[in-house]
Amino acid sequence: MKRYLNLNDFGGKIVLAIAILGIGIPALLWAISLALNALGIQWPALRFILLGALAGGGILFLGLLSLVIVEQIQDHLIYKMYINSRGKRIPSAQGWSECPFCGNRKIKDFENSCPICGRVLK
Ligand SMILES: [Zn+2]
Repeated sequence: MKRYLNLNDFGGKIVLAIAILGIGIPALLWAISLALNALGIQWPALRFILLGALAGGGILFLGLLSLVIVEQIQDHLIYKMYINSRGKRIPSAQGWSECPFCGNRKIKDFENSCPICGRVLK
């Protein structure tokens, strides 16, 4: 099974965008509004821009959270597939099989364990 979703590729960029939208821009706008209030200037649109940036950061955060959940489910499925396939004999030429643990290629179909390493085969 191929690993389709890997947050290592772009997760850092999403976290950076969340930090900018959710913390950086609101803090900057809040400081600007404090300065404008100190000067006695009212600018009501500033509040909407601040709320919009916060909402964008929140939406990105929820998107990243759902991607993390999907990636965890994918990794669990890959792990289960690996556990199920571990110890399976590898078919080789002329009816022989290969031991996945030691590489012994002289395993017959009726043998349940490897005669060299003694590990149980599926
Ligand atoms: Zn073996």
